[in-house]
Amino acid sequence: MSIWTTRGRLKNVAFTGSPEQLKTLTACRKGESDLVHRDGGWYLYATCEVPDVPVTEPEGFLGVDLGIANIATTSDGTRHSGKSLNAVRHRNRELRRRLQAKQTKSARRLLKKRRRKEARFAADTNHTIAKQIVTEAERTGQGVALENLQGIRDRVRLRKPQRVTLHSWSFHQLGSFIAYKARRAGIALIHVDPAHTSRQCSACGHTERANRPDQETFLCTSCGFAEHADVNAARNIAARGVAGWAVSHAA
Ligand SMILES: [Zn+2]
Repeated sequence: MSIWTTRGRLKNVAFTGSPEQLKTLTACRKGESDLVHRDGGWYLYATCEVPDVPVTEPEGFLGVDLGIANIATTSDGTRHSGKSLNAVRHRNRELRRRLQAKQTKSARRLLKKRRRKEARFAADTNHTIAKQIVTEAERTGQGVALENLQGIRDRVRLRKPQRVTLHSWSFHQLGSFIAYKARRAGIALIHVDPAHTSRQCSACGHTERANRPDQETFLCTSCGFAEHADVNAARNIAARGVAGWAVSHAA
């Protein structure tokens, strides 16, 4: 690339990226790019216009349940653990508490750096999960069914309000990563009403709070169906995706 500087034009400046990024850049680059200095590194933000891929008619839906212990669980039983992300967040929370008490300039700088690093780690995790989900949907010919996120605040019943904000922000990010990766692969995407997905039996439809004896377990009091609670919820989301798609594409 070449850049204009206060001392004239710098030509043939080397840059790199992942093979996928370089491919997109060659095929779809549009307009100018921005050079950004962030945390001691130089980044090139290039605008690309990627043409829409026609949506393939799905054979069923892969339901995705979002949570904290498991960031995402799919209706085929895959659980994407939030363990390492939660550990990083916990460590940083402790560190933040100690640094905030200090009130020095260097403490503030370190805080800022930590915050950015945590955000990058969360984004990397979300990208990886989104990619695995979309790849699995593509491999099996399914669409992807996600929860409508308006209700997420009620679902994440936590005592500390800042955690609710943090998690709902992260859920929105994961949802948007899945959406854009699905769009680029021509995979059907649908958002469903998440009400009672955790209490409803995905085998017989019986809905009751008592179906959920503890955080991890789903056990239907009516038909006896047993499954990991998050997998059961994801199966409900998948079923609602199928129903929703049929309604919106009936015409
Ligand atoms: Zn049941």
